[in-house]
Amino acid sequence: MKNKIYLFSILSLFLAFLLIFEPMQAAQLSSTEEKLVYLTFDDGPTPKITEEILDILESNNVKATFFIVGKEIKGREAILKRIYEEGHGIGLHTYSHDFKKIYTSCDAFISEMDQNLTIINEVLGTTLDIKAIRFPGGSSGRLTKAWLETLTAKGYQIYDWNVDLQDGVKGNLSPIELVRNGTKFMDKSSRKIILAHCNTNNQNTCKALPNLIKYYKEQGYTFKIIDATTPPYYYRIKK
Ligand SMILES: [Zn+2]
Repeated sequence: MKNKIYLFSILSLFLAFLLIFEPMQAAQLSSTEEKLVYLTFDDGPTPKITEEILDILESNNVKATFFIVGKEIKGREAILKRIYEEGHGIGLHTYSHDFKKIYTSCDAFISEMDQNLTIINEVLGTTLDIKAIRFPGGSSGRLTKAWLETLTAKGYQIYDWNVDLQDGVKGNLSPIELVRNGTKFMDKSSRKIILAHCNTNNQNTCKALPNLIKYYKEQGYTFKIIDATTPPYYYRIKK
């Protein structure tokens, strides 16, 4: 009798274990965050560099996001069209990229974004309502609570980065160094937003790009573009 009770208890415990742990495991699996990577290129369009980046993205079947500077578009309209037609994301990175102008006030900053968007739509023949923005130099130390409220009220979504090739200030870093920087994570997020540039001196960024793409593919990341559905990502705001 004692044995029977003992056996029954063990069996009950086992059943309870199955009931409790099966759904938990399923829930754990479904909540496992997907590894996403957003390749972003600032400061273009630029002849040769942006075009070479587009070629590499195309041959690797990968989409990226270009944070466009309005004043760079003139004479390079075809490159902007190619970015759009090939399905890459487009973000706003001000018209002038002139820190003395863009950061004088939030109104000045917004009008720089508006000016940029107007030109983009003129060139593309579209009426896109692009809300993805990137602060030149990053939002850190610039984005105040007041700015955040104003920008958010106008529907803007801010994107900083958590991986930095450091090719903006140091365009002459070797492709190996750029790949090394491009695989260093600033946080533990499963969402990597990689900052890269397409300025005229970013030849080595083009050289590093195939290996960078290869790394993220091998690590099981899915490449995504930044669009209206992408949750914003910005640093802690200035008090
Ligand atoms: Zn920039």
